[in-house]
Amino acid sequence: MASRSAPGGFIITVGGGIAGATCAEQLAAQFPSKETLLITASSVIKAVTNLRQVSKTLEDFEVVERPTHVLQERYPNIKVIHSAVKELDATQHKIWTEDGEEYNYEKLCICAGGKPKLIIHENPYVLGIRDTDSAQEFQKRLAKAKRITVVGNGGIALELVYEIEGCEVIWAIKDKAIGNTFFDAGAAEFLIPHLRAEKPEAALPCKRTRYTMEERIRKGIPEDEQHGSALGPDWHEGMELKGTKEISHKVHVEFECELDRMYLQEEFAVLQKTSLAFPEKGSVEGKEATAEEYWPVYIQLSNGRIYGCDFIVSATGVAPNIEPFIKSNTFDVAEDGGLKVDEHMRTSQPDIFAAGDICTASWEPNSLWQQMRLWTQARQMGYYAAKCIAAEISGESIEMDFCFELFAHATKFFNFKVVLLGKYNGQGLGADQELLLRCTKGHEYVKAVMQNGRMMGAVLIGETNLEETFENLILNQMDLSSYGEELLNPNIDIEDYFD
Ligand code: FAD
Repeated sequence: MASRSAPGGFIITVGGGIAGATCAEQLAAQFPSKETLLITASSVIKAVTNLRQVSKTLEDFEVVERPTHVLQERYPNIKVIHSAVKELDATQHKIWTEDGEEYNYEKLCICAGGKPKLIIHENPYVLGIRDTDSAQEFQKRLAKAKRITVVGNGGIALELVYEIEGCEVIWAIKDKAIGNTFFDAGAAEFLIPHLRAEKPEAALPCKRTRYTMEERIRKGIPEDEQHGSALGPDWHEGMELKGTKEISHKVHVEFECELDRMYLQEEFAVLQKTSLAFPEKGSVEGKEATAEEYWPVYIQLSNGRIYGCDFIVSATGVAPNIEPFIKSNTFDVAEDGGLKVDEHMRTSQPDIFAAGDICTASWEPNSLWQQMRLWTQARQMGYYAAKCIAAEISGESIEMDFCFELFAHATKFFNFKVVLLGKYNGQGLGADQELLLRCTKGHEYVKAVMQNGRMMGAVLIGETNLEETFENLILNQMDLSSYGEELLNPNIDIEDYFD
């Protein structure tokens, strides 16, 4: 085993996703005369481009995948090592990589992301979508499919069911309404007709450079060592998500259920079970499938219904990739499986920080912020972790970054602009919260979450132009009780009013 050591140890970031790449870049900028290492299992590095501060807390950016040399040309003091970390010894301040190298560190920032939580493991009929490669595998399988099942109700499932064309989709969710990670039932009602309507023209081609599985195969990397980075907001753009049928959307939602069992075709035939046909638009009662209908797999839902399909997409969230790091060390691990970090992104082990999907924010958060494993937060945490590491090295104190004051996320669902602010779903606010709503079918949905006359959160769907004003009202916690429902009166120009 080879050993690479620097006097006092290297500054090392693990992970080439958004959190790790942002952290490494920031560290390299803070310590221009020091070599910093970026150790990553993936063959490409994510980079944020065209970062635009839309308002105080809302940001907009594009994400590209870049080969290593681009990063090293920009930051000659970053050395990228393409190998997965297989072990860490926090006492000795050392890590070991799959390629047999050993590195000592002065400070370490773990940004190894997460992996999809699969409902069934190692089953060729169950796919998880996490990185470019798994997305491409999905696309390939979809191109031959007539019907698929999507299980899960988060952002990935929402995007998928909307984007897929030419294929029937059975969408199984455990909640009463779609997208409940992001919306309440009202917003779900607003969106659902768009799931059934024809889709507008296809999105623009994807601007991202793609480095694919073929490249990794060419390099002889075995499949189980290909820990790619998570995709992000535009992952399906430029990717044709089309099945074999000449149909646009055909989605049937099964509410309040989970996957109970899966049968392969032969097993299903032996057990002499029957499945249901795809329910017609709006109908809840499925008719029995015809005798000629055969499917590679059959799913049995907890509500007793059985459907056949070509394969299943498991979109039930991610589990933080902590195994190599906790093998020989005792980290404080949160209930959701993430490495607990304090307000300076420090884990429970000295000189080890963490950022992005792998960590769980365990400080007392501001009353208007919550962690969600999102692209924006991966960038913000990676940036802030680097600042905290630099402050610790130079013995300076550091204030918590402003981005942790207010939760702010802008995205697109069903082709609508969606902005979520603060306690947008009334998270943790208790019973005395009040909701103000304004909805114009097919056009916009505006919800303000109020408590004691203060605005605590908001959901804005469509081109509402309210994000900046609402952000200010939430941040300054102005008493708005005297305005009552007038606050959302479309005839009042609220922007002018509060400027
Ligand atoms: P990752 O991007 O997962 O990067 C982890 C890095 O660590 C990778 O480079 C990996 O190779 C490396 N790694 C893993 N293990 C090791 C190891 N042992 N040693 C060395 N390196 C290792 N977020 C949004 O905000 N909006 C969206 O619309 C959205 N859509 C999404 C759609 C999909 C399909 C998915 C999967 C995610 C989506 N997300 C979205 C979430 C977002 O992509 C993630 O929150 C974000 O990318 C996390 O970044 P990260 O850097 O923490 O982790």
